[in-house]
Amino acid sequence: MAKKESENTIKQRTTPEKRELAMIEGILEGSPDGIGVVVVRLNCGCRKMASLDKDGEPASKIIMYRDEAESICAQCKEDNGAFMRVTESFIHWVEPAPSAEQQRDISVKVLGSAPVN
Ligand SMILES: [Zn+2]
Repeated sequence: MAKKESENTIKQRTTPEKRELAMIEGILEGSPDGIGVVVVRLNCGCRKMASLDKDGEPASKIIMYRDEAESICAQCKEDNGAFMRVTESFIHWVEPAPSAEQQRDISVKVLGSAPVN
């Protein structure tokens, strides 16, 4: 199976990995207003996440973590996970997910581009 790669396109069908899902659940537990969690994967392996409310505003603090590490890497400590190092970003919606229109609006606001279906 050939893997399609398109530059500068946010993969909207990305699904969270198991560990990410555990983090997402933890974040949502702490933010009752959250309707989704934005997941940002950085090229160093660290992750950045925050829950979003129905207006696409942050509903939690931004969480940064690194798998199997006590803290994020030195580079992230320095640049706080700079946008240019983002490899993938997507929103994991809480079920029931908002309408396609609302998802699009929030995606544009948060990720800077609309989902491609
Ligand atoms: Zn890092």
